[in-house]
Amino acid sequence: MYLSRTVKARKREKLDLLIANANELVTLSSEAQKPRTGTQMREIGIIRDGGLAIKDGRIVAVGKTAEITKAFKAENTISANGKIVLPGFIDPHTHLIFAGSREDEFQMRIAGVSHMEIFKAGGGILRTVRETRKASFEKLVDHGTETLDTMLEHGTTTVEAKSGYGLTTKDELKMLEVLQRLNQLHSVDVVPTFFGASAIPPEFSNNPQGYVSLVAEEMIPKVTEKGLAEFCDVLCEKGAFSLEQTRRILTTGRNSGLRSKVHADEMSHVGGAELAAGVGAVSADHMLFSSDEGIKAMADKGVAAVLLPAAAFSQMTDRYPDARKMIDCGVPVALGTDFNPDCWVESQQLIIALACHIMKLTPAEAITATTINAAHAVSRANEVGSLEAGKKADVIILDVPNHKFLGYRFGVNLVDKVIKNGRIVVDKEASRTEFRLLEEQKM
Ligand SMILES: [Zn+2]
Repeated sequence: MYLSRTVKARKREKLDLLIANANELVTLSSEAQKPRTGTQMREIGIIRDGGLAIKDGRIVAVGKTAEITKAFKAENTISANGKIVLPGFIDPHTHLIFAGSREDEFQMRIAGVSHMEIFKAGGGILRTVRETRKASFEKLVDHGTETLDTMLEHGTTTVEAKSGYGLTTKDELKMLEVLQRLNQLHSVDVVPTFFGASAIPPEFSNNPQGYVSLVAEEMIPKVTEKGLAEFCDVLCEKGAFSLEQTRRILTTGRNSGLRSKVHADEMSHVGGAELAAGVGAVSADHMLFSSDEGIKAMADKGVAAVLLPAAAFSQMTDRYPDARKMIDCGVPVALGTDFNPDCWVESQQLIIALACHIMKLTPAEAITATTINAAHAVSRANEVGSLEAGKKADVIILDVPNHKFLGYRFGVNLVDKVIKNGRIVVDKEASRTEFRLLEEQKM
C-alpha cells in the first residue's frame, strides 16, 4: 500500500540497502505537507514488520517487509528484527559552536546563585563571547565536529545551529563560516541561523540601540550577501532586545530573505509569542511564560513552538513550558536540545525523556516533535523528518522493541544504527562485538 505503481512495475529492482523485519517502522508520513497538531501528534504511522528500500541516498519505498523484499533486492540487507526504525532525529535549536565551558557556573547554580547574578558578575553568555572571539576558526571547527559526531551517534541527522557568540560583524561572520565548513565536512546537515542579537555586547552596554542598528544595517546585509544563513533569530527578553527592537531586526532579516525565529518568553512574559505570530516567524522557542493569547495567535498562524526542556532543567527553576496547553490549542510543537555551554546535551533521546516525564508528552508526541515537526521548524520537511519515498535516507534503528520505550528507557543511547544519506555511519552492533570475549580468550 505504500509502494507506488511505478515502483511495483520494476520487478526486483537492485538497490543499495534494504531494511527488513522492523518490529515497528515509524513513518510519520502523511498526505498533508504540514506539521502535526493536536491529536495528530499521536498518529505516527507505524508499520509492523516494516521494511524500507534505499537507493542513491534516497528512500525508494516503505512498506511491509514482504512487499519490500518482493519488489527489491539489495547488496546489503539489514534485519531490524526486535528493533524499531525511525526517521533520523532533527534538532531544531542549538548553539552548536562555542569555545570554553562553564561548569563552574553549574556549581554556582546548584548553590542557588541566579542566572542574572552570574550574568552581572561577567559570567554567562558574555564569557562565552569573550572566549569564542579569541578562538581560531580551526579550533571552532574541531570542537563543532566532535559535537556533531556525538549528536550523530545519538541519532540526530539534521541540526539547526546559531551564531551569537561573536557579537561583532567579523566574529559573527566567523561563526557562520564555521557552520558552513561543518556542513561541508560532516555528514550531519547543518541549518545555519544568524543570531547576532543574542545579547547586547559590552561595547554597546550604554548604547543598545546602536547595536540594534549594527545588526540591522551592517551584519544582516553582510550575512545575506555571503549566503551564510537561512534564519534570523533574536533574544526577545528583558535585559536583551525589546519587542520593538526584535521586530526591527526580524523584519530587516526577512526583507533580505532570512526567515524568522524568536527566543520568546524564556525568563518572563514579554509577548514573544504574539510577536512571533505577528511577524510570521517559522518558530518561537522556549515559551516558558507565553500568554494564552500568544499561544492562540501562534496556532492561528501555524507558528511552531520549539520547546527546550533541557534548558529549563539546567536552569533549575522548576518551570517548564505548558506543552499540553500548546498541543490542545493546535500549535505544532517541536523539541530541541538547546545545546550550549549552559545546557550541554547532545541527545534528543534525553530530550524525549524530559518531555515525557516533566511536560507529560506521550512517547508518540515526543517522537513527532523531534522528527517531522522539528523538520517543519527548520524548513526541511520536504527533505527529512519522515520515512517516505523520495525523501533523504536519514534513518535510525533503535534497539528497543517498540516506540513506547523512548523516554521510558533513558540515560543510555538506544541507537543501534544510523543511516545518513543512505550510508551506515553508526553501527553499535558492529562495535559491540569487540567487547565480547570469545570463550577461549576468557580461559
Ligand atoms: Zn537558544
